[in-house]
Amino acid sequence: MSKSSQKTPAESNQNNDEELLITSLRANKWDEFYGQNSIKESLLIAIQASQSRNEPLDHVLLYGPPGLGKTTLSHLISLELGTNLRITSGTALTKVGDLAAILTNLQPGDVLFIDEVHRLPKAVEETLYPAMEDYALDIVIGKGPSARTLRLDLPKFTLVAATTRYGLLTGPFRDRFGLVHRLTYYSPAALITILKHAAQKLKIVLDDESALVLAKRARGTPRIALKLLKRVRDFVQVKNLPKISPQTANQALSMYTIDEAGLDEADRRLLIQVVTKHHGGPVGLSTLAATLSEDTITIEEVIEPYLLQIGFLKRTPKGRVVTRAACDHLKLAYPTELS
Ligand code: ADP
Repeated sequence: MSKSSQKTPAESNQNNDEELLITSLRANKWDEFYGQNSIKESLLIAIQASQSRNEPLDHVLLYGPPGLGKTTLSHLISLELGTNLRITSGTALTKVGDLAAILTNLQPGDVLFIDEVHRLPKAVEETLYPAMEDYALDIVIGKGPSARTLRLDLPKFTLVAATTRYGLLTGPFRDRFGLVHRLTYYSPAALITILKHAAQKLKIVLDDESALVLAKRARGTPRIALKLLKRVRDFVQVKNLPKISPQTANQALSMYTIDEAGLDEADRRLLIQVVTKHHGGPVGLSTLAATLSEDTITIEEVIEPYLLQIGFLKRTPKGRVVTRAACDHLKLAYPTELS
């Protein structure tokens, strides 16, 4: 999801370019997928066990902030199973018929990946229940008292669902997944490995020190690290510099207004508004959204998770509160109301 819903054509082109680059850098082997070791291990064991029993892999639920590798894991799972991957998302499946069309076209053992699964309409989610449990599709024919339900058998498939909002999933839905994993933010060391591997693929020279500059500003997120690498590569190329150095990396990233803590304009604006307009908080989500002219979903799903994770923002029952660390970083006085 983008932080801004209104983009200029130039921005859209840049974003498309970036998406293409990110896709081209997707890990195609398990050993190109760094970090998240316990998740990798648990998935590989489950895959091996299902293969030796000749049964489909249990349904998998992956949750965590965007850009941490959920889609990539679904690719790796289908590669390991040697089956096809069908990709769709909760926003694309607006009607029961959309899901039925996909399910009836699956081959035995296929992996169906549904991104942003928390956005599935209720009726579509409920159609998934028998599909997940009994590999069956219940279709209602007709309306009113003469309506009948017809049960169709489906091929045995594995659903891999991804969400940034685990809390929004209903209990019955969550219970139908045999494997549930939370992806966590990456350490700078893991991001350095990911960046160096991507640089190699892109034939760019990237030393450890320069990689650390990018890693520190990447909000613990591989997708952001890879985008920053591209920005720095463009900068070095346009300025005709011989290679990426820590100085040029810093210079390029400051130009894109990403600071040393990985905060961008939207993050800083949120923190500054909470301090200046709301005495540091607590401030409720909808009030904050109105102050920032931003929608609540973008605040909750895109901006806040990283600020909460690095301890710049706290969530309390009464609302969001800034921390002293955030004020120190932004060189703002810590609100007396919070002292
Ligand atoms: P999500 O689905 O969680 O939003 P993606 O799977 O699309 O994230 O990952 C975004 C980019 O980051 C992809 O290019 C992917 O290859 C890369 N990436 C994510 N996690 C890792 C990892 N652990 N190791 C290497 N690359 C990764």
